[in-house]
Amino acid sequence: MQILHPFAGSVEQYHALLADPERYRPGHCPQCLAKHPLTAHGFYTRTLIDTAFDGIIRVRRYLCQACRRTVSLLPEFVLPYLRSSLAVIALFLVARLFRGQTLLHAIRSAPPPMPYQRGQFWIRRFRAQAEALCAALASLTQPAPAPDFVHRALSMLESAGWTVAHRFLFGAVRCHLLGWPRGLAPDGRRAAFSAPAAHS
Ligand SMILES: [Zn+2]
Repeated sequence: MQILHPFAGSVEQYHALLADPERYRPGHCPQCLAKHPLTAHGFYTRTLIDTAFDGIIRVRRYLCQACRRTVSLLPEFVLPYLRSSLAVIALFLVARLFRGQTLLHAIRSAPPPMPYQRGQFWIRRFRAQAEALCAALASLTQPAPAPDFVHRALSMLESAGWTVAHRFLFGAVRCHLLGWPRGLAPDGRRAAFSAPAAHS
């Protein structure tokens, strides 16, 4: 299971903090609710494309000794199962869907350069998720008058702040900003017998 690393800062600052397993060690298991601290259990690596970073980051894992399941601490600047950072995706969605820029212009607003299809994929996922986002974000920020759910969701994300909204959605209501990939349970946990979802 993935939970959020309560950290917002640069990729470099994140890496520097990772050395200390005590700092963000979960005090209890979020899966079986055992009331004892989890054991540090190494790292996994994943790719990340941020506005000024394109490479591999490490994600710390902890193990629950009671249920033998692992918990990964995902930094707040990434979205589960997506290679691009929250900032890159936000810049692109705002440019394309909020400001009405062309796809090409929107891609240029969200550096580094990326394939056309990736932007289309985010738009498709965001449109499908917009109504659920409006409902979920209503307890965090006031819904603004808007012509449709896409614009309303974007204005709510802009007024709450994307990182704050992501922290709330993922941490409190287990909602993915762009929707969980198919094959996962509604709260983002891996469903039984499902194949790993494709990344983009
Ligand atoms: Zn457990």
